[in-house]
Amino acid sequence: MSLPEFFDHGDLVAVLTTQPLGRALDYRAPEGGCHLGAFVEVPLGPRKVLGVIWGPGLGDYDLSKIRHVIRVLDAAPMREEMRVFLERAAAYTLTTMPAMLRLATRAPGLGDPPSMRKVYRRGDQVPERMTDARRRVLEVLEDYGDLSFTLKELAEMAGVTSSVVKGLAKQGGVREEDAPRDMPYARLDPDMPGKELTEDQAAAAAVLADGVRSEAYGTTLLRGVTGSGKTEVYLEAVAAALRAGRQALVLLPEIALTEQFLTRVQERFGAKPAEWHSGATMTERRRIWRMVGQGQCQLVIGARSALFLPYQNLGLIVVDEEHDTSYKQEEGVLYNARDMAVLRAAICGAQVVLASATPSLESWANVEAGKYRRLDLTSRFGPAVMPTMGAIDMRGEGLPSDRWVSPTLQAEVNKRLEKGEQAMLFINRRGYAPITLCRACGHQIGCDHCDARMVEHRFLKRLICHQCGESKPMPEACPSCEAEGRLAAVGPGVERLGEEAAAIWPDARIATLSSDMYGSARALKAEIAGIAEGAADIVIGTQLVAKGHNFPNLTLVGVIDADLGLMGSDLRAAERTFQLMRQVAGRAGRAEAPGTALLQTYQPEHPVIRAILAGDEEAFWAAEAAERKQAGVPPYGRMAGIILSGPDVAQVFDAGNLLARQDAPLRRIGAQVFGPAPAPIARVRGRHRVRLLVKAEKSAPLQEALAAWVAQVRLKGDLRLAVDIDPQSFY
Ligand code: ADP
Ligand code: ZN
Repeated sequence: MSLPEFFDHGDLVAVLTTQPLGRALDYRAPEGGCHLGAFVEVPLGPRKVLGVIWGPGLGDYDLSKIRHVIRVLDAAPMREEMRVFLERAAAYTLTTMPAMLRLATRAPGLGDPPSMRKVYRRGDQVPERMTDARRRVLEVLEDYGDLSFTLKELAEMAGVTSSVVKGLAKQGGVREEDAPRDMPYARLDPDMPGKELTEDQAAAAAVLADGVRSEAYGTTLLRGVTGSGKTEVYLEAVAAALRAGRQALVLLPEIALTEQFLTRVQERFGAKPAEWHSGATMTERRRIWRMVGQGQCQLVIGARSALFLPYQNLGLIVVDEEHDTSYKQEEGVLYNARDMAVLRAAICGAQVVLASATPSLESWANVEAGKYRRLDLTSRFGPAVMPTMGAIDMRGEGLPSDRWVSPTLQAEVNKRLEKGEQAMLFINRRGYAPITLCRACGHQIGCDHCDARMVEHRFLKRLICHQCGESKPMPEACPSCEAEGRLAAVGPGVERLGEEAAAIWPDARIATLSSDMYGSARALKAEIAGIAEGAADIVIGTQLVAKGHNFPNLTLVGVIDADLGLMGSDLRAAERTFQLMRQVAGRAGRAEAPGTALLQTYQPEHPVIRAILAGDEEAFWAAEAAERKQAGVPPYGRMAGIILSGPDVAQVFDAGNLLARQDAPLRRIGAQVFGPAPAPIARVRGRHRVRLLVKAEKSAPLQEALAAWVAQVRLKGDLRLAVDIDPQSFY
């Protein structure tokens, strides 16, 4: 049954709002009527709230009390495919529709009329007095013909102060005009000359471009080692989408959204794409949201939530570094952007490209099952070759307990320094030291709100809880026995490694890349760009540096603790370690100089360490897949996590036990429930957390059963329940 496309004044309409009400509410269409999907403002109690016309009214409410829609907002109505996408995503993740709508409207002032701002373009008068500064401004404008700029842009481009531009405006040398704040994005040109592709790159690009031209859904796993040219190849798919007049979206892990990457896109297409990320200003967000909806933005480069923008004609979604764990949103709506990208594309007839050097087992399994196509780029571009891998067996290195750089690694770094090349030391732990121990009484400083140890961050001079973010100044005395000056740092973090490196190599330029040390993502990006150009001899970093950055002069990566990821109860521990080690190794030797990656390990015979060293991915995947199949866990079985949390531990456990007992809806589909057990982090922000884990067969209708199951408990007081479909982390 198809819905009517338009509602006349006074017709009953169902409006979905962003308020947590559970269902759409009936209103009457406003004067002038409204389209299906229109963004509207409706009265709700004493307030005005944002909503979308979702369909005809349900008519199950007292007709005399139904109020009118206040007004239709000045924005393109939500398209049917978007409404279907939100509904299916909500059903899959067991999220309420209002919460989904909030994700789709994460831009401020959607209903405001476009506001204006001043822009500057070429004027027709010659200023009375010509200065060097003024000449530079006029030259910039000359170069850009008829384009206009904001005051700040123009002043920056000409390298003058804004008063110079204003002075010129007074004399008519430049023209000052009012322009809408939300400007369309500059047209991208898909036909600018790209790089000349190698044979296998060109073949892969042709397959992707054909897919885009088919205007049908399809997903391709684009696999290739770091540096094999995956980006070059998928930019050709973007070009194909642009030529076909369709929009494209490139999703990146937040941290990989670097200037380097944007510059590259700009070089390929001649203008800047839209950039959607957590650091974008409200004005930028609003502009992107509106322009995407009006089809005046052809390409968005964004973090995961860019998936929920109102594309008008989406033809391609690229998910770069598809295995990256940051695609899973872990708070609020728990969704995996990679999987939702596939859903969205299937609905709107778009192509998906999942690019990775180390694909997730999920994607690998979908290829095996024939659901995804697979394209492989087999070699690195140009003279760069895969790094040589080696293990340093720490059992033979005789390191004291407060040192982490083995003599063997130290000697290797020295060789690079002598040749003027860069070396990187990698440790996947932020802060200075993971444990602060009192040498007098043995007390370890923990978080007051969580069951986690406080991590010392010496740079910030604070102890920070990595679970809840709580922080406090580093105390002088032990909080337990009050002995002074006996607190000791135990174990390494990236800052402490930086300190050790400075002691070993006092003359080297050492850059420690830790998110603490940079006030903003931009500052960090600038630092990374500087390092790529040679501003440091030794780079020390956490997983921040494992992603996507290109350091052409880097020839050695030393992994301080390759064993760190192998511990713990996470079913993906082996996969994660494998991916991380491969990526870090991929940092070395991107340009002409061959690279080496050395893994410090106490278990050189561990199967994962051996697979990394052998570079044998297929063997690793096959072995890992066999184990998961055997255990019936994802991707060969289904899982869902339930986290109950509340201030009172007994109450939380009671609710968990009750759920576990009332498992009939789960048993009907053959699913099993485990728990309740304290979640691995049993307390966060003062709330006790209890976890239940549900396991089902791959084909079982898990969502319906879960919905029926959790509906049985009434959440009293401050008790909360969150369902996590396909949990990635097991907290
Ligand atoms: P990946 O995305 O697989 O890591 P990139 O696409 O970033 O690989 O390529 C690695 C480097 O090699 C980049 O600097 C890129 O510009 C360069 N490169 C790749 N393919 C070509 C090519 N065909 N011609 C010129 N340079 C290339
Ligand atoms: Zn805490």
